[in-house]
Amino acid sequence: MPFSSLGLSPALLRAISDQAWSAPTPIQAVAMGPALQGRDLLASAQTGSGKTAAFALPLLQQFEAAVPQSPRRLRALILVPTRELSTQVGEEIRFLGQHLPRALKVSIVFGGVSINPQMLRLRGGADIVVATPGRLLDLIDHNALSLSGVATLVLDEADRLLDLGFAEELNRILALLPVQRQNLFFSATFPPAVQTLAQVLLRDPVRIEV
Ligand code: AMP
Repeated sequence: MPFSSLGLSPALLRAISDQAWSAPTPIQAVAMGPALQGRDLLASAQTGSGKTAAFALPLLQQFEAAVPQSPRRLRALILVPTRELSTQVGEEIRFLGQHLPRALKVSIVFGGVSINPQMLRLRGGADIVVATPGRLLDLIDHNALSLSGVATLVLDEADRLLDLGFAEELNRILALLPVQRQNLFFSATFPPAVQTLAQVLLRDPVRIEV
């Protein structure tokens, strides 16, 4: 199956061809259709499977389809366990979004560094935020961003988020999100705590195993 059969916009197909990706990976082939339709996903996915583009391309397509004149607001929140992953995911989204007609703002936030530059950047507006949970809450406490307009939540490597002790932060963040939203849930493993989190979070999800 070629990328061109997935219903992606010319701007996204051009970024894919810049990457010289010849075909979707298995998770991309099965996840993108339901994600584009607004369904929740429960995906069992390893690093290296191409999972980042599997959620990023639908997010970017939804961003492009949104009313062009609408004011910039945070539409998608991607929670990740580590600084390394936040940077990797944020950079891949920027790359895939580089040809969109309306410039995309992706903010990457993580702990362990000064909060002030991150606050300043967020105050300039962001369409998508990729964040580790603790720093995201600090930024919310500083009024640097609001989650009230978030239409899509992505949990990437949910098992590692819980292993690293982020359960309490996750619950605080979930309470700040609009009830009406799309949820894309990715985890490499599904121990009981991850299954419970998925049950709380997801509505009639499409289950994907690759
Ligand atoms: P991920 O599992 O998202 O961390 O992706 C692993 C690597 O695969 C990243 O370096 C991606 O740039 C690359 N990748 C993602 N999708 C494709 C594809 N369809 N074809 C070739 N490489 C890809």
